[in-house]
Amino acid sequence: MKALVLEKYNDLVYKDVPDPVISDNEVLVKVKACSICGSDVHGFDGSTGRRIPPIIMGHEASGEIVETGKNVINWKPGDRVTFDSTVYPLDDWFTLRGYYNLSDNREVLGVSPGTYRRHGAFAEFVAIPQHILYRIPDTVTFEQAAMVEAVAVALHAINIGSISTGDVCLAVGAGKIGIFLVKLLKISGAGIVLVTDRNQSSIENALNCGADHAFLSNDPGLKKSMLKFTYGRGADISFEAVGKSETVNIAIDLVRKGGKLVLIGNTSPLVDFPLQKVVTGELKVLGSCAIRGEYETVLELLKSRKITVDDQISAVAGLSEGALWFNRLYKSTGDLKKVILVP
Ligand SMILES: [Zn+2]
Repeated sequence: MKALVLEKYNDLVYKDVPDPVISDNEVLVKVKACSICGSDVHGFDGSTGRRIPPIIMGHEASGEIVETGKNVINWKPGDRVTFDSTVYPLDDWFTLRGYYNLSDNREVLGVSPGTYRRHGAFAEFVAIPQHILYRIPDTVTFEQAAMVEAVAVALHAINIGSISTGDVCLAVGAGKIGIFLVKLLKISGAGIVLVTDRNQSSIENALNCGADHAFLSNDPGLKKSMLKFTYGRGADISFEAVGKSETVNIAIDLVRKGGKLVLIGNTSPLVDFPLQKVVTGELKVLGSCAIRGEYETVLELLKSRKITVDDQISAVAGLSEGALWFNRLYKSTGDLKKVILVP
């Protein structure tokens, strides 16, 4: 089959590779769409250490089943599917308690952090365990289904934050996850939705997606503006979707005393943490990791058109042009939204 292989850092090659071989519990999926995730772009240059070459990246995908292993039930060739980005063991302590996203020995599709290497979906075919598959509703396209993972990550953060009706919410970072946070917050009962980002184009995108107010993060009047829209107290819940010292500190600075901070961004292993502000403000700090079953809800939201994703797709391109689009995204300053590659 053809695949887009990260042969060495910053070097993606479109080439022939052997077809994946499925095990008894897996299905072979003919990939129809796979979006480029920010984590792929950051992994591409080696900076995260989670895409050690050689690796076929890609974990936000959809396709059609063409073959099933002998223990596969409920799935057959021709089924339109998307799948969780996490392959988790079924006999794990955390999985058995409903926390499969935290399970030991979980693997992410298209990731090779050194402890494992699991090829992903920037290829014609990918082998997928049956327990992570989800059926795509007839009215949802393969391209839309390739956006489900990113929406589900945002929905998981909202579930972790357990918002109450009318809560003033702030999204720090209006990249893909931040944008879907805004869209989901608007249909989840949030009150005023505020956004901050360093790029003007992302600010405009957030406003177009329903944010009530959005400000550049380097605006010296940022805090004053935010306080104006939060009854002088700060946001009830702050969602941080970048994962760097600067943005974590903005998220904490703009949340009210007794409020919640949901951390989704995962860029830096360590950040400066304003301990005294968190302690004296009794802030609740919550981590949000990947997805825990939110796929079904997101597919339903797409089917009922309660949420749209088409406006966040900048380009649909052939897989053979993958290297070009990775380079464009690498240099992008927020002007490019999602790019979907089609084998
Ligand atoms: Zn992703």
